[in-house]
Amino acid sequence: ATTDDPEATGHEQVVFCQDKQTGLKAIIGIYSTALGPALGGTRFYPYDSEEAALADVLDLSRGMAYKNALAGLDLGGGKAVIWGDPEQVKSEALLRAYGRFVESLGGRYYTACDVGTYVPDMDVIARETRYVTGRSVEHGGAGDSSILTAWGVFQGMRAAAEHVWGVPTLRGRRVGVAGLGKVGKYLVGHLSEDGAEVVATDVNPRALDWARTTHPEVHLVDDATALVAADIDVYAPCALGGALDDDTVAALRAKVVAGAANNQLAHSGVEKLLADRGILYAPDYVVNAGGVIQVADEIEGFDFERAKLRATRIYDTTREILRLADTDGVPPAVAADRLAERRMAEIGRLRAIH
Ligand code: NAD
Repeated sequence: ATTDDPEATGHEQVVFCQDKQTGLKAIIGIYSTALGPALGGTRFYPYDSEEAALADVLDLSRGMAYKNALAGLDLGGGKAVIWGDPEQVKSEALLRAYGRFVESLGGRYYTACDVGTYVPDMDVIARETRYVTGRSVEHGGAGDSSILTAWGVFQGMRAAAEHVWGVPTLRGRRVGVAGLGKVGKYLVGHLSEDGAEVVATDVNPRALDWARTTHPEVHLVDDATALVAADIDVYAPCALGGALDDDTVAALRAKVVAGAANNQLAHSGVEKLLADRGILYAPDYVVNAGGVIQVADEIEGFDFERAKLRATRIYDTTREILRLADTDGVPPAVAADRLAERRMAEIGRLRAIH
């Protein structure tokens, strides 16, 4: 559930930014700095109203705090929204004006890419502030974060497979990948290499052509509905949010859900439906943290191997969450929230003392 009242949601700080000359209107939401500076991307989107923009930034920044906590990062959770149509108003001046607002927070908030913002935009923002990640490789950045996102999803999926079938591999399993975009493509590679049988779908004909040419072994189906109803062991939503609703859960034949898409549960309560049907759901924000791990590494000076090692640990975190869920008798999504809250409280307390 979303709310547009920061007091009710427990955010530390919400900053409204305006620059009349460039038309910039932005809101930066800092949910928590308990673990360190808040990190989260900037969404550039034509919201219908300021209330809608505020509700989104409050919701997203809270989500980042949980994701970063479970990724083992020394970073808190934040997010920003720029309210406007990027096609119409995005300009160097607007992005730089935004960068100056980020700089003015003195490092309490680090930004990155999100819907509507791209690596070259981060390079522009970086001309005004140090507190930016997701820059291009030429500028010392981490570049394309979908590489480690896919790697992390694969690790989370291995942990889920081990939990259900006793072995941490997808060898011999049928995995359904919905969405062959930046992340889905890398994921298909890892799965094929591991010996899984991949069934996939995408709405974009070019993505299907990619699969036919580079992975002829992949079995393509018409749409996500057909994929959900197919005889698959694992379902990997890698397209848009809301992939799991009442109808999908009822039709799903897979025993495991683990994928890259953000906000896979269409509404709260779906985690319970999945558990009731005996389907193991590896929480999206746990298994898709490889991207934020990749860009966060930029803060120390980007090192791909170090970042990959961190993303590999998504296997261990997912394992721990699935065990905790069994012990506590709750769905994995609830266990994940509890673990994140515990880390924020314990480490946050130490940092508050020193
Ligand atoms: P993308 O836009 O490159 O790929 C999405 C793909 O899904 C596209 O090929 C699109 O055609 C396809 N698609 C859209 N609707 C579909 C439908 N109904 N059925 C089947 N396919 C459909 O995006 P991406 O970067 O690969 O990200 C995929 C998901 O993972 C998104 O939800 C994103 O928020 C999430 N995610 C991405 C990253 C990252 O680093 N890129 C990190 C964390 C989470």
